[in-house]
Amino acid sequence: MPGSFIDKAKIIVRAGDGGNGCVSFHREKYVAAGGPDGGDGGTGGHIILQVDDNLSTLMDFRYKRKYAAENGVDGMDARKSGKDGKSLTIRVPRGTLVRDAETNEIIKDMSGDGPFILCRGGKGGWGNSHFATPTRQAPRFAKSGMPGESHEVALELKLLADVGLVGFPNVGKSTLLSVVSRAQPKIANYHFTTLYPNLGVVYVEDGVSFVMADIPGIIEGASEGAGLGHDFLRHIDRCRLLVHVVDVSGSEGRDPVEDFDAINLELKQYSPELATRPQIVAANKVDIMADGSLLERLRKHVEGQGYPLYTISAAAHMGVRELIFAVANRLRELPPVAVYEPEYVKRPPKVDMSQPLEITVEDGVWLVEGPWLQRLISNTNFGDYESRAWFDKCLRESGLFDRLEAMGIKDGDLVSLYDMEFEYQR
Ligand code: GDP
Ligand code: MG
Repeated sequence: MPGSFIDKAKIIVRAGDGGNGCVSFHREKYVAAGGPDGGDGGTGGHIILQVDDNLSTLMDFRYKRKYAAENGVDGMDARKSGKDGKSLTIRVPRGTLVRDAETNEIIKDMSGDGPFILCRGGKGGWGNSHFATPTRQAPRFAKSGMPGESHEVALELKLLADVGLVGFPNVGKSTLLSVVSRAQPKIANYHFTTLYPNLGVVYVEDGVSFVMADIPGIIEGASEGAGLGHDFLRHIDRCRLLVHVVDVSGSEGRDPVEDFDAINLELKQYSPELATRPQIVAANKVDIMADGSLLERLRKHVEGQGYPLYTISAAAHMGVRELIFAVANRLRELPPVAVYEPEYVKRPPKVDMSQPLEITVEDGVWLVEGPWLQRLISNTNFGDYESRAWFDKCLRESGLFDRLEAMGIKDGDLVSLYDMEFEYQR
């Protein structure tokens, strides 16, 4: 559908890798045997998410699916550190839920203003100048940079609004929003005019305002996926209150009671919980109402179900202020807009340990390297007991310690795994 509203997208993001440490020795004319002076690698750039209120859809992500931050630069001689990689900031509309693409768990609800680091860049490796000690004066090794985190995530836009307008197409929802706020939604006298949700801030009085969303028309059968509406219903999930707009003018030959029930049935079929959301009914177009009996039937019907009803003419600005005050008063009693809590927990990576690790001995230090070990380390949180236990288990199961023993490692020898070093203890 051309110009259709995109509110779901899957993207792959990759933080930058850390740069490698450098092995180098100071060289100067007439100076013999200079000390180690290899610099450190730079840190890889992060992938950062940031809310941008100029965006209202996830459209951009349909055309660009892969995002990568810059790698850190390798360290150089003369203790020059490599430059850090530039972080990449990805802008998303407010209310974007970020989920793990595989498990669907929520990683972050992008509803606030702060930046969120989605993937961390890899740490740079240390250059050999870091490894010099009184007993190890000329270390001929440096460390590789760590890989940056990467993630496939699903983005889903769930608007952040206090009030959602619901009702059949053409009943005057967009007109109402344009009259009570500075939003300028498309208004036209034909059905399905609104393809994009529109948000507007409604100023009630000093210090009192709320956000109202005009959601594309719900049509019958929408909750079964028959029409446009289904996709849009999720946008009212978070609304604290619904304003249900009904055309009572009879000008289109519609029956307001039937319309009211049909929309509520749609809501219920989509989500029983949504159907119980507080509603205020706005009986619209009273300026061209030919026959008051439609309004009176609707009033009896909705008030009988416990919903308050306000008669308005959005186009003629009649009754609109009373409606807005009623909405503001009701909102005062309702809980704030729901912000979703993160559910995602980082799991230990699935490491294929079949590739043997490379073991070299330099200056009495046991250097161990290999792609899976690098990945395992960058995914281990060494401050967390369980994470560390998992790390130990992997090393043991890989046969690393048996190999070190077979090669003659002794208690107290230094073992060096990328950015960590420990004393061997049998
Ligand atoms: P939506 O599809 O619910 O967003 O409806 P719109 O706001 O686009 O309005 C549909 C048509 O009804 C437009 O031609 C509006 O000018 C007209 N309309 C909206 N409110 C009123 C009203 O209070 N009185 C009259 N006479 N026409 C209205
Ligand atoms: Mg509209």
